[in-house]
Amino acid sequence: MDQAALEAPAALDLGPAWQHDFARLGPDFVTELRPTPLPDPHLVSVNRLLAGDLGLDADRLAGAESVAAFTGNQPLAGSRPLAGVYSGHQFGVWAGQLGDGRAILLGGIATPQGVQELQLKGAGRTPYSRGGDGRAVLRSSIREYLCSEAMHGLGIPTTRALLLTGSPQPVPREEMETAAVVTRVAPSFVRFGHFEHFAARGQLGALERLADYVIDTFYPQCRDSGRAGGNRFAALLEQVSERTAATVAQWQAAGFCHGVMNTDNMSILGLTLDYGPFQFMDAFVPGHVCNHTDQAGRYAYNRQPNVAYWNLYCLGQALLPLIGDEELAVAALESYKTVFPSELEARMRARLGLAQAGPEDRRLIEGILALLAAGRVDWPIFWRRLAEGVAGGDLEPVRDLFPDRAGFDAWARDYRDRLAGEAGEPGERMLRTNPKFVLRNHLCESAIRQAKLGDFSAVETLLRLVQSPFGEHPEHEDLAGFPPDWAAHIEISCSS
Ligand code: AMP
Ligand code: MG
Repeated sequence: MDQAALEAPAALDLGPAWQHDFARLGPDFVTELRPTPLPDPHLVSVNRLLAGDLGLDADRLAGAESVAAFTGNQPLAGSRPLAGVYSGHQFGVWAGQLGDGRAILLGGIATPQGVQELQLKGAGRTPYSRGGDGRAVLRSSIREYLCSEAMHGLGIPTTRALLLTGSPQPVPREEMETAAVVTRVAPSFVRFGHFEHFAARGQLGALERLADYVIDTFYPQCRDSGRAGGNRFAALLEQVSERTAATVAQWQAAGFCHGVMNTDNMSILGLTLDYGPFQFMDAFVPGHVCNHTDQAGRYAYNRQPNVAYWNLYCLGQALLPLIGDEELAVAALESYKTVFPSELEARMRARLGLAQAGPEDRRLIEGILALLAAGRVDWPIFWRRLAEGVAGGDLEPVRDLFPDRAGFDAWARDYRDRLAGEAGEPGERMLRTNPKFVLRNHLCESAIRQAKLGDFSAVETLLRLVQSPFGEHPEHEDLAGFPPDWAAHIEISCSS
């Protein structure tokens, strides 16, 4: 055996075959590099549900070799670590080149869910780190790990998280914190900002290669000559607009605020991506801003649908040189304006237990939203109580939530009439569309506080609950209640 082989650290072999289609786009897109090791890595949590979905052995993933590999300390056999370049608009302003400043893509693995890419977030500096340290702290990594699974549990398209590891390595933020690495999983991490990057630089060959990679891998139907005037790039824009519309409609219906809808955080697959200062709303406040850094409220809850469209417009401008026809591009974007409202109405109808669409539904939806806003009613509790109330035939506990009882009574009369025409068991349906367990900020905060002391049991409990949020889990009733007063004072910023 030669010397190099003796010295090379043992590579962990996960089993599945690796694929490196994104890497093959070449050096305009990626820089191959090694993650930077962290001292004394330890497991925080392994996502057994996802491991199962991917056909991976969760016990093996939780083992020391795997923890070292997924912290970036040891190679994974068959992987090809790299960082990708992209650009983007941040808070409405062109930010120029960004890129994977702390995320390292390992490549894709063949799974029962198709090829899934694995990415280490927080695994060290890359050529795109700019001034950053390439690290992620335990606090924000727990938030990302749990929230991506909460979104998945609600049926909302999202990147997922397979593993969370930590290290005692100090990482300076507002205060000194410690490092963590989340292993993120998605079919692709390509962002709107990837397209903006090559368009802004006038690298039209690279732009076309990227678009064709995305079309061939994820949107092959764009090559149907019947779509978007036979223009595959316009068809891509249309498809992405529709997926984005559907995802943002789900955010709105779930009371989810993303917090940093910059174009570099927008997935080309319409996945929820880059969990930072996100929040599931407590009291329903339409103008709620969850990101403490967002002074102007650009990414307020009720602005998310328009911001998504603005972001799609940026994508459209980036694709325009390929589409070659402004009218086609505008027409492709128009699909957002029809898909978003119809998806939102469908999602809200499902929360109300209405299986059939009816002409009065929009009024019913707008009516309850106005009452919820006027009373600053707790969003998750209202919906769950409504589901329980319809299932059990008693809306009194729902009524109790509203300062304006008469207003609620009037709405409830219309709602009951509307429900009377519904087939099946609306209440039973509603218990499957209105979660009991929602990953509220204060639940994350409590789990983070414990985790900082080395106790990861609350992370584990929350993971299990948000993965089956519609279940009763009577032993965790305390995690389904109103937020404590201190929840209103939690400040989540971009710092992560
Ligand atoms: P975000 O606001 O988290 O989406 O990040 C915006 C950009 O900053 C992305 O290009 C990130 O890769 C980069 N970035 C954020 N935090 C760090 C960090 N600690 N080190 C290096 N790059 C970072
Ligand atoms: Mg980002």
